[in-house]
Amino acid sequence: MSEINLNKAAIALDFGGTNIKIGLIRQGKVLNQTLLPAHSGAGIIPRLPDVQAAVMDLLEQEGLALGNCSGVGIGLPGLVDPQHLSLLSINEKYADAVGFAFGAWVEEAFGLPIVMENDARAALLGETVYGTAHGESNAVLMIFGTGIGTAALMNGKIIRGRHFQAGILGGHFVTDVNGSRCSCGGVGCLEAEASHWSLQGWLKNQQGYANSLLAIESNIGYRQVIDASQSGDMLALSAMQHLYKHWSSGIVNLVHAYDPDVVILSGGLMKAKDIVLPELVRRVHEQAWTPWGKVRFIVAENPDSSVLLGLSHLIEEGIDIDYV
Ligand SMILES: [Zn+2]
Repeated sequence: MSEINLNKAAIALDFGGTNIKIGLIRQGKVLNQTLLPAHSGAGIIPRLPDVQAAVMDLLEQEGLALGNCSGVGIGLPGLVDPQHLSLLSINEKYADAVGFAFGAWVEEAFGLPIVMENDARAALLGETVYGTAHGESNAVLMIFGTGIGTAALMNGKIIRGRHFQAGILGGHFVTDVNGSRCSCGGVGCLEAEASHWSLQGWLKNQQGYANSLLAIESNIGYRQVIDASQSGDMLALSAMQHLYKHWSSGIVNLVHAYDPDVVILSGGLMKAKDIVLPELVRRVHEQAWTPWGKVRFIVAENPDSSVLLGLSHLIEEGIDIDYV
């Protein structure tokens, strides 16, 4: 790591299921960021020309050129092999990204070094290195996007595992053995029960849906349910109880698995943290077996940039960062 590199900006690309977030970051500060629709069902390759153009636009807005950049970081919601720069497996989204030569694309499009990581793992790095969880060494993260991403940090080391899947499959912890079939092939996964993507299907199967405020919404996600619950809508209120039950079970599982001091929460849902956090914390504290005390909760200050910050750190440090 040279001093020159620290003065250079990192280009971070966060390929989410709904949006692609693109940021320029220097020393933990987001210089500028933008958003593209992901259309992730149609694959990643058709989106790459737009991503490249958006990066060049951001650079121009900041008066920077590619020569002022240290590298490109790519975050994906799947199993990523950071050493071989490849996506090993992904669930439904970006199917064509598995095995895609990201290194060759970055070389051709930008002529810069590349790092890759699972998005939630990058978010955990971002929040513990630069964000509100700065300095924490034992942490788990849950990020509520289209799906539910998780990651774990133990004794200062990011947990990655032999097959790169340790810590990141918390969205597929089973929270109801009699639950719904999940898109991963499992049954009753946290994502199948209480994620942004599964919520609409769950609501439509409930009695009272036709009489709910939510029946007139064309696209139902967390925000619509929270808003309707605030208006006293009966179905939305019962949906919130359902969500709290599953989210808290998922977090308790993470606490039992990885023994953290803190639980870091990020993602779009945390824009409603004033509404959801108190009940979520209450349930986790009630259910978690932690005789040493109570896990603390930390919410990302800017949930839209957690992944981008972590990717920039990986570019600055290289992939030799301490993993287990
Ligand atoms: Zn699953």
